[in-house]
Amino acid sequence: MDAEASRPLSSHLRSALTTFRGAWSHAVKLALDIALPTLCVACREPVEGEGVCASCWAKLSFIAPPFCPRLGIPFVYDPGPDMLSMEAIANPPAYARARAAVRYDDVARTLVHALKYQDRTDLAPAMGRWMARAGRELLDDTAVLVPVPLHWRRGWSRRYNQSGALARVIERQTGIPVAAEALRRIRRTEQQIGLSRPQRASNVQGAFKVAPDRQHLVAGRRVVLIDDVLTSGATVDACARALLRAKAASVDVLVFARVVDSHRTPI
Ligand SMILES: [Zn+2]
Repeated sequence: MDAEASRPLSSHLRSALTTFRGAWSHAVKLALDIALPTLCVACREPVEGEGVCASCWAKLSFIAPPFCPRLGIPFVYDPGPDMLSMEAIANPPAYARARAAVRYDDVARTLVHALKYQDRTDLAPAMGRWMARAGRELLDDTAVLVPVPLHWRRGWSRRYNQSGALARVIERQTGIPVAAEALRRIRRTEQQIGLSRPQRASNVQGAFKVAPDRQHLVAGRRVVLIDDVLTSGATVDACARALLRAKAASVDVLVFARVVDSHRTPI
């Protein structure tokens, strides 16, 4: 008697049922794809693929040279190579270089909020790809990616770690590994929104730490910190200090969007 014939009838039924279920769920998914086209996250128009329609994509302000080699703040004219911004000289950060894919404007804010608060994880691949492009001079095979650890909202409720998701996309794009557990937030911080620049800095001072048993993940490594938005830079600066204390060789910063004041000029 061959093996096929020896299988009990219930086994044949089960496998037929599984095949049917697979085909059915595929059909349902197809129907849903037709019935519910993806909407542009910014303007709610139907869109194919990545979540942002062509006209909203055109409204995103991608950051391109010339910009401050230290802070990545775009200049309104090209001051020549290696000219730093006034901010970089007056208030040098603990990190070496920061780069951002886009300016933090209305469309960028919509994308960041959708990723962070509305479970639009489908946006992470496009946002991460734009970041990988903006940060290519930081991303070589000696680097390790460290996402800014999960923020805590009032009431200690957990939310989706958007920085971790963006880091995973960049890891897939570049092959540079993520050390997701390297950095810890060791105390609760107030929300940075509405705080002045000095308040922001003191709010996050000492809030991050590399645990002794995690130091090997960053010691002697070029760390690229990953976050969604850079505002005053206080959070990434506090993270960079913690990483440097843990003997990271250097720390650079790569974000999706950064706040840029208008009329920025080099010194
Ligand atoms: Zn749109």
